[in-house]
Amino acid sequence: MMMVGERQKVIILGSTGSIGQMTLEVIQQFPDQFEIVGLAAGSNASLLLEQAITFRPKAVSLYREEKSSTLHKEFSSLGLKLLTGPEAADKLVEEFKADIVVAAIPGIESLKPTLIAVRQAKRVALASKEALVVAGNLIMEEAKRRGTEIIPVDSEHCGVFQCLRKEKKEDISRVILTASGGPFFETPIAELAYKSVEEALAHPRWKMGKKITIDSATMMNKGLELIEARWLFDLKPQQLAVLVHPQSIVHSLVELIDGSVLAQLSVTDMRLPIQFALCYPKRVTRFLPSLNLSEIRRLEFFEVDEERFPLIRLAFQALEKGGSFPVALNAANEVAVSSFIEGKIAFPEISKIVKAVMDEHDFRPAETLEEILEIDRETREKTIKLINLGL
Ligand code: MG
Repeated sequence: MMMVGERQKVIILGSTGSIGQMTLEVIQQFPDQFEIVGLAAGSNASLLLEQAITFRPKAVSLYREEKSSTLHKEFSSLGLKLLTGPEAADKLVEEFKADIVVAAIPGIESLKPTLIAVRQAKRVALASKEALVVAGNLIMEEAKRRGTEIIPVDSEHCGVFQCLRKEKKEDISRVILTASGGPFFETPIAELAYKSVEEALAHPRWKMGKKITIDSATMMNKGLELIEARWLFDLKPQQLAVLVHPQSIVHSLVELIDGSVLAQLSVTDMRLPIQFALCYPKRVTRFLPSLNLSEIRRLEFFEVDEERFPLIRLAFQALEKGGSFPVALNAANEVAVSSFIEGKIAFPEISKIVKAVMDEHDFRPAETLEEILEIDRETREKTIKLINLGL
């Protein structure tokens, strides 16, 4: 039983990223309900220090190795411990018990700490979609066994979660995730080869981290979200669909067997799903602007053009094949996206490379953490080789 006045202890994995920073903003609105006990960052030590000064956690961690004793001293002068290295976030979650862990590390790096969080915390507010894409079964089984709540922070999944709160599983006919279409929704396909990293990073609706923004431009983000939804809501691949909705007001739709369609709408602001995941099942008064539909006036929906966005089809295929396919898909995509950001390949090559890797991939089971990490490692190697060959 929670005592009146007792605050929920929160650890944020990925505190210096976009979701992490917004989570801290939300927590600042509810100082009597939440208390930050740990913050895990990747490499941004100066922002982590600023956050630590404001929120006074018990410990912080950096993914990068940090030998500099001045940095360690700066943190210890605040009375807190600095853990460093690739396993630092794992240790943070293990040592400093939290009620809620917000998992917001991008990429497969999120897998281990998220899995540990599922074992340790009462609730995981999950933004790290890649963790579910590669290890959905493992994470959901573990959550069931431990009685851990997994509340999605992804806006589409938060919408589905809200639509399904009072519905029976057998009454769900289809779940439709909406996609903004990203910056290249209307760009002539022939021009995509000349699109720069800056142009791909200029997302029309959402302000997010680099990896997810490029994934939105290729629509792989929606592909990953399909796989994420399959695990979160225990759906069959044929129950999942995507519609392009450039206004990003309707976050998802749930069609029930009687033909009713439920939808969740809100202003385009990630602080809402974050707040929902932290406060659930309580509804708290918004600090966001109200949704004014008469001002927006038009809500449009389009089918996905798979010629323009071939990764969507690959994601559907990986979802249907299961096993090692989603792991390989994610690994090839992570490598291809980094290569694009580093200027090594052109934009359309992201999907070409991922397709080439997937065409060669053979099914293997991917049930344990070791199997998953091994498939991930092998696929990364293959993808790097293909890129270096100048496919
Ligand atoms: Mg999303």
